[in-house]
Amino acid sequence: MIKEKGILFILSGPSGVGKGTVRKALFDRDTELKYSISMTTRGKREGEVEGIDYFYKSRDEFEELINGNRLLEYAEYVGNYYGTPRDYVEETLESGKDVFLEIEVQGALQVKENFPQGVFIFLFPPSLEELANRIINRGTETEDIVKNRLTEAKKEIEMMDAYDYVVVNDQIETAVDKIQAIVKSEHCKRNRV
Ligand code: 5GP
Repeated sequence: MIKEKGILFILSGPSGVGKGTVRKALFDRDTELKYSISMTTRGKREGEVEGIDYFYKSRDEFEELINGNRLLEYAEYVGNYYGTPRDYVEETLESGKDVFLEIEVQGALQVKENFPQGVFIFLFPPSLEELANRIINRGTETEDIVKNRLTEAKKEIEMMDAYDYVVVNDQIETAVDKIQAIVKSEHCKRNRV
C-alpha cells in the first residue's frame, strides 16, 4: 500500500463548548496524533507551560510571524492573537504523521480555504442553555460579556455546515470515542492502516 502523507484533523466549535477539555482527554489516551502547539499573545495561566500549552509571544513577535507568512491561520479572540505554526504542521504531515489542531471557528474556516483536504470536526454543545451555563460558570464575566459571547457562539454555530463531522459534547468520554472513530474512519477512507 502506498504511504500517503499524514491527515490534518481540525477540532473546532463555539467558545464555551469544551474543545480544550475534549482535546486534553483525547491526548490522555494513547493516540498517534501529533498536537500542533499554537502561538498566542495571551498571558500564561497558572499551571500552563511554555511549549506544552502554547508558545507565548509578544504582539510584536506575533505580528512578525503574520508578516513572514509563518502561520497557517490566525485569529484575534477576546483581545489576543492565536495562530498555528505553518512549518510544524507542513513538516509533520510531510513525514506521514497526522496532525491535530484545536482552534476556534474563524481560524478553522481559514484552514478550510487553504487546506480543504483537512478533516473538520465541529464540537456542538448539548444545548444553547447548557452553553450559556458553561460561559456563565467560567467565572467573572459581566452579564453584557456573557450576552456577547452567546451571540458570537450562535454565529459560530451557523458555520457548522462547513464542517465534515459534528460531535455533540454531552459526555467528554463519548465525544472522545467519536473523535477516535472519525480518525479511524478517515484512515480507512484514504486506504491507510
Ligand atoms: P484559551 O485562551 O482559552 O486557551 O483559548 C481561546 C480560544 O482560542 C479557544 O477557542 C481555542 O480553541 C482557540 N485557539 C487556541 N489556539 C488557537 C490557534 O492556533 N488558532 C486559533 N484560530 N484559535 C486557537
